[in-house]
Amino acid sequence: MKNINIAIDGPAGAGKSTIAKMVSKKLGYIYVDTGALYRTIALFITENNIPDEEIETALEKADVSLRFIDGAQRVFLGDRDVSDLIRTPEISMAASRTSAIPAVRKYLFGTQQKIAAENNVIMDGRDIGTVVLPNADVKIFLTASAEERANRRFKELSEKPNCPCYEEILSDIIERDRQDMTREVSPLKQAEDAVLVDTTELDLEQSAEAIVKIITEKTGGGK
Ligand code: C5P
Repeated sequence: MKNINIAIDGPAGAGKSTIAKMVSKKLGYIYVDTGALYRTIALFITENNIPDEEIETALEKADVSLRFIDGAQRVFLGDRDVSDLIRTPEISMAASRTSAIPAVRKYLFGTQQKIAAENNVIMDGRDIGTVVLPNADVKIFLTASAEERANRRFKELSEKPNCPCYEEILSDIIERDRQDMTREVSPLKQAEDAVLVDTTELDLEQSAEAIVKIITEKTGGGK
């Protein structure tokens, strides 16, 4: 039987990964965070100081892979688990820049399609419903106002040392939205057949419930 593919797209900080993780647990699907793949490419390019004109050739040596350990996704660069290393603001910004390079998107396209063909997945990203899985069974476009997204990120980071201030977080979010929505290849946009879920006024549990309801209605149940 064909595997079920759920695409969740939306801007940075809309809660996609937290909510998608909750939904995938409820439904017993694998959760795939495609942003981690773009972040890992950004780390590879940054660590090796690769100039733009050499990126396409260098990618042949990149060896980026996803592994699922106890159901949780880990991302590897060669044999190195870089899942935690890629979560810095510098890598967020670098990932947004490098993800606009067509060779980078082409390199990751096959990786994402293969996982979706082999598993029941909830895959989150920016172009999953529009480009990677145009025939996904359910497409969700998850968003929230830029201020609310900055607010959430600020609360998350405020417990850590050297936390950036709210204004800095908000301007990073606005800049990433701009980069992601205006790039030429696979810009962030809502697929025509995607259901819009705005979480500005919803907490995590309410958002997850809204999405489970949409998926259950469209697929006729879980697994
Ligand atoms: O989702 P996350 O914030 O981790 O993604 C990091 C960056 O990777 C995004 O700002 C976006 O530019 C890029 N990305 C993308 N396409 C995806 C997932 C992420 O371009 N499917």
